[in-house]
Amino acid sequence: MTTTRAALRTLTAARVWAREKLAAAGIPDPLTNAERMLECLLDLSRVELYLFRQQGLTESQQTQLDQWVQERFSGKPLQYLLGHTGFYGLDILVEEGVFIPRPETERLVEEVIRSVSESPVPSHPLRILDIGTGSGAIAVALSVNLSGTEIVATDVSEPALLLARKNATRNGVADRVRFALVDLFPATREAFDVIVSNPPYISSSTIPNLMPEVRDFEPHEALDGGPDGLNYHRRIIEEAKDLLTPEGLVALEVGEGQAEMVAAIMQKTGYQDNRIEKDLCGVGRVVIARKGSHG
Ligand code: SAH
Repeated sequence: MTTTRAALRTLTAARVWAREKLAAAGIPDPLTNAERMLECLLDLSRVELYLFRQQGLTESQQTQLDQWVQERFSGKPLQYLLGHTGFYGLDILVEEGVFIPRPETERLVEEVIRSVSESPVPSHPLRILDIGTGSGAIAVALSVNLSGTEIVATDVSEPALLLARKNATRNGVADRVRFALVDLFPATREAFDVIVSNPPYISSSTIPNLMPEVRDFEPHEALDGGPDGLNYHRRIIEEAKDLLTPEGLVALEVGEGQAEMVAAIMQKTGYQDNRIEKDLCGVGRVVIARKGSHG
């Protein structure tokens, strides 16, 4: 009688197998990849993977793991394989064709929440615009964490907006976030207290040099920010002035080395209280400014 693979492979054996396969294929961080796959497959936390290490995988779980490992060889990002990722403590669905939310962007969310909490309370529900919402990660995280806000989230990608809606629904904020398929700003020209964005910011000429995982799998319209990467920042900073309430805030994520330039553009456009916030690696990542009463 032949023994099934399932009977042979315990969680521990599966972890070692997947890690070795991924390492041999040169995939960075093979252990984390293997563990994330198993967590997702068995719906276990990382600690539980170790607690239940003698548990066996079923035949179908085994097949799925084999498939993920194979697909990962091609460089397809782990998040696309698993179909979701963590963002600001929330579970966010991701899918091919839509930008994967990054940990750096959690800084942007954190800074907006902090700035809003320190600001004078507006006389109406706080109104936030999230430009280029992608999976909806920023809009959903802000809505979950800032009660009493009305959020409009825009994108030019229909698949992104469909996914963003699903993320709003599964995180319980669908009635507080409105989505619009438009070029940056909603056509209604309504006013906002906060305009936040993580727009495309890679300079066009460096796209070919990106990690293949990003370059070959993520949508280029989510990456390409024009000749110096700042096309979108310039447009947003310029146009946001007309839509922000008098004490309104603009908060933008930037790429490495772009923060000073973006702060200078804000200053030249007449914004006040510009500040740069760094990420955990010490890279200027978020630039925030206030429209100011003279705007
Ligand atoms: N905010 C998300 C996605 C960032 S990627 C996150 O932080 O994870 C940038 C997003 O901007 C993509 O979803 C892309 O489709 C969108 N985008 C590109 N050009 C745009 C435009 N002209 N107007 C609105 N959104 C745009």
